[in-house]
Amino acid sequence: MRGALAEAYLAEHGMPDDTFRALFLSDQVQYKDLWPSLEGQQTILLPATAKACKRHGLKHHQSFRDSLLDVWTNLGGDKKCPECDESLDRVSGYLSNLNPLNPISPRSRLRVSTAIERGTGTVAREMLFTQHTLVDLGTPDNKQFLLFQGVVRIFNPTLESKLMRLLHLNTTLFLGAGRSRGLGQVEIKLETDIPASEPLLERWNKFNAAAQRAGGEAGKRYFSLTLLSHLALRDDLLRPIFGDIKPQHFGLPEGVMWVCHLNSKQPVVFLNAVTVSGWNAALGLPKPDTVALARGSVLLGQCDAAQEQSVLAHLEQIEAKGVGERRNEGFGCVAVCYPIHYTCWR
Ligand SMILES: [Zn+2]
Repeated sequence: MRGALAEAYLAEHGMPDDTFRALFLSDQVQYKDLWPSLEGQQTILLPATAKACKRHGLKHHQSFRDSLLDVWTNLGGDKKCPECDESLDRVSGYLSNLNPLNPISPRSRLRVSTAIERGTGTVAREMLFTQHTLVDLGTPDNKQFLLFQGVVRIFNPTLESKLMRLLHLNTTLFLGAGRSRGLGQVEIKLETDIPASEPLLERWNKFNAAAQRAGGEAGKRYFSLTLLSHLALRDDLLRPIFGDIKPQHFGLPEGVMWVCHLNSKQPVVFLNAVTVSGWNAALGLPKPDTVALARGSVLLGQCDAAQEQSVLAHLEQIEAKGVGERRNEGFGCVAVCYPIHYTCWR
């Protein structure tokens, strides 16, 4: 969406100016990921710790659970689906609602086409290509438009009116690939009062109450970091950071550590890596690939009770500003004590 709006801006103004740079190239505006959603509902991301029936997935509602807080007991591996007694397996995707459980599953279609020879305007020989497209939501008999929701966060209030004007231009915007073939046409609806998520302190308290029930130490405080978008971090030598990630890479103070698995020094982190490619429309060239930790990755941290206030202050900053590189493109969005970890652990 950032790219589409930048294109609309350039179509109107011709050349990049200071406003363009502030809106699209600076850290003053962050364009978060677009998630599939249902009208009027807040989408929930399934983290890497979410599990459901191995055979029937989320269709067996009662099998759904989050396994992060199993770390102190190791009992999670024995859990079975209450509906069919199958074992549980990882599930990914998005939910529109937790209770009753309602997964959002956009229908996709594989399009097969042939390339066109530019010189003759006829079919190019041996140039078959395929393209995965998202079609709509719902079932073939009950189709619904595919909606996405995303947040644009503006740190410089003077830019708000400029962005609003752009959104009200009524130009047709196209997202994704295949735009020259007419794919990805979108209509934007603006909502300015987004329902606030539960305050951090309440989530922290509920998470810690659940962690104590799960077997955490009484003198410790626990928190989870759940990546709501990809996270691109580099060390001092500019190498991407993956498995050796530390709480201090998030800006957390000394003394904060990852929780370790029982009788081991292995940290409790559920990490997936992803390579993000992209297209720079202005240059007409592909962007360099970014290797990042993938959306949905989860890390479990701990600190001493005496450190609680200072850690909370740092965590608040992490949620407010994000972490790592390419934040204006939506990278580095982190949720602390994401509710699914304590409401769906049982
Ligand atoms: Zn089942």
